[in-house]
Amino acid sequence: MNITKPYRSTIELIGNTPLVLLKGASEAAGCEIWGKCEFANPGSSVKDRTALYIIRDAEERGDLKPGGTVVEGTAGNTGIGIALVANARGYKTVIVMPDNQSKEKMDTLRALGAELVLVPPTKYADCNHFVHTSRRLAEETEGAVWANQFDNTANRKAHLESTAPELWEQLEGRIDGFTCAAGSGGTIAGTGMGLKAFDENIRIALTDPHGAALYSYFATGELKSEGSSVAEGIGQGRITANLEGAPIDTQFRVSDEEGLHWVAQMLREEGLCLGLSSGINVAGAVELGKQLVAEGRKDVRVATILADTGFRYLSTLYNPDWLRSKGLPVFDWLEQA
Ligand code: PMP
Repeated sequence: MNITKPYRSTIELIGNTPLVLLKGASEAAGCEIWGKCEFANPGSSVKDRTALYIIRDAEERGDLKPGGTVVEGTAGNTGIGIALVANARGYKTVIVMPDNQSKEKMDTLRALGAELVLVPPTKYADCNHFVHTSRRLAEETEGAVWANQFDNTANRKAHLESTAPELWEQLEGRIDGFTCAAGSGGTIAGTGMGLKAFDENIRIALTDPHGAALYSYFATGELKSEGSSVAEGIGQGRITANLEGAPIDTQFRVSDEEGLHWVAQMLREEGLCLGLSSGINVAGAVELGKQLVAEGRKDVRVATILADTGFRYLSTLYNPDWLRSKGLPVFDWLEQA
């Protein structure tokens, strides 16, 4: 029996997530595709790791004192992670979020006791963008720190020091490729750097949704976006500090339709209810697996990130009216419901 040791602090529940072989994706790729179950974190997403590292770093630097406040601009998951860690450590949380994110994330943040500030979605260059609004709020609040997940490299350090060594150990040092999409870029950069430190031949691929500029940046050097995506938490238009020097060997661009295909497949055939970024990650992992197999590599193993739970998107991804309103295909079992 594979049983984990008991923990003496709830904070220790973050990380050490299970890794699972994805049967459908493995069949499609002709090799092993493994999913890191980040939805198994206490806040149900990969961003709990980031929240823990950022808060710990602020404590160590002496910026965050007992009773202090953590302020962040986030698509939601980082905020949920921050609220949980802040509650466990005795801090207050203020979260600034674009008002087009899922209602479940907003309700969850309020339920966790975070103060929620909703702003209209706008371009990064606009001073009212959620990131800039959160920085200003942090500056104006006594005893507050700004988490700054996009440009605070404590974020990618979380993945360098935890996600990458966990994957290496779970796959017993036999891994050929890793891929995921980028929001802040912390996961792809930190996990990529960490895995390359074990074996520089591990291929690191960025999987970009439509509407993001990184596919073009890594392919041609130019930050340019095409199309759009409804995926939450991913899709970056600039090189954040977390993305600087990320060891990206190759890149894929994946549509929402392809991502939704994998979300549907994993739910109906494997019993995993996930968000769209996970579906996009799995689509990228299948591409990377096929690429490595086509080069004649044997016993190929690729890992990716199952970033958050689908229960966070019942009003969007799993709602036929919402899917139709976005011009996206409706899962056939929802069509019949
Ligand atoms: N998927 C989801 C659902 C997310 O919330 C995030 C974080 N914004 C990501 C993927 C991307 O992670 P990162 O910020 O580390 O690039």
